Amino acid sequence: MINRKPFFIELELTYKCSQQCIYCHNPPKDLKFYIADKVPKPRSVIEMNELNLSEWISVINQIKRLDEKYEGIMDVVITGGEPLLRSDLEEILSYVTRQKLRHMLLSSGEPISDDRITKLLESGLEKIRINLTSHKYVFNIQSPIMHIKNEVAKKINIAKKFKDFGVKEVGGNIVLTSYYLDFLEEIAELAYKSNLDWIEIHSVIKVGHGYINQKFIVPDPNDERTIQEKLKRLIEIYGENFIQNYVDTDILYSRIPIPTNWGEVGLVIAPNGDIYPSSEATSIPLSKLGNIKNDSLVEIWFNNLLLNKIRSLSFLREPCKSCEVKKLCRGGFRFNAYITKNDLFAPDPSCQIVKDYIGKS
Ligand code: SF4
Repeated sequence: MINRKPFFIELELTYKCSQQCIYCHNPPKDLKFYIADKVPKPRSVIEMNELNLSEWISVINQIKRLDEKYEGIMDVVITGGEPLLRSDLEEILSYVTRQKLRHMLLSSGEPISDDRITKLLESGLEKIRINLTSHKYVFNIQSPIMHIKNEVAKKINIAKKFKDFGVKEVGGNIVLTSYYLDFLEEIAELAYKSNLDWIEIHSVIKVGHGYINQKFIVPDPNDERTIQEKLKRLIEIYGENFIQNYVDTDILYSRIPIPTNWGEVGLVIAPNGDIYPSSEATSIPLSKLGNIKNDSLVEIWFNNLLLNKIRSLSFLREPCKSCEVKKLCRGGFRFNAYITKNDLFAPDPSCQIVKDYIGKS
């Protein structure tokens, strides 16, 4: 079914976090069908026993075997929660470096100190992406906008520090919730002047806490034109290498579904070693592919029944089965099918073709 390795393996070292992003994709605790209405729901993530250092070392050994044996380029993405909260992050990173695996650290940049940055550099850190839009819960304070601006400036300063200490590539990440739209230009200018290598701008995705808090984070549909114009202008000013635009307003405003990419791009290992086909899938117990303590990563990537069923599109039902764009859309977003129908293989109910089909039948 597939003869190449995944493009990435994500190691979610912990779900603990120093921040309170209300769009966090990590799996929420006891909130499966809940959508916040009056005020955003604070982040509250399911608790689990985390793999210890020697278990993460075994994971890395498995990744090394996958990397050596099969065609393609693969990245190890070290993430969380907040990976800086693991006191053994340096040991994990050192081991990844010694295995000569391409890697990248995703972080909110906190908690950090000069000493920690030095240790991370000594452990082989060459590439880090800091989420400039991750910070504490802001809705009960007096001037939320001022708070948000200060937090973004603080994150850019932290990113600059990594750069000043000698980390080769330091990027920033912006999740374009409605709160940041008004000062997107300000953030881009400050990041550019602070010598960051790039900023990625991503749409909000309604998964995990982002599903629960969608009402508060998705920019108003009347702002669609403003979003597109702002992004276009930023690319004209700073270039496509610096402004990496991943915002797709057709998807953001549900004109087209998010394609199912399970089995096509990567695997995610949760803090307790459970293996999932994507980061949003960690909120979907039905999509668990195995656990790294008992299962082989190579075996799962190439032979797992669920992954092969999704890859082959044999799970599609009508109207997806006869749909003209099924090879691109791949039946739409599995998170939507699960959260609204409690059925992993249902047609994505956010798709207009699916809505029309259900309306007729
Ligand atoms: S009908 Fe199914 S395959 Fe076609 S666009 Fe909608 S979700 Fe995608």
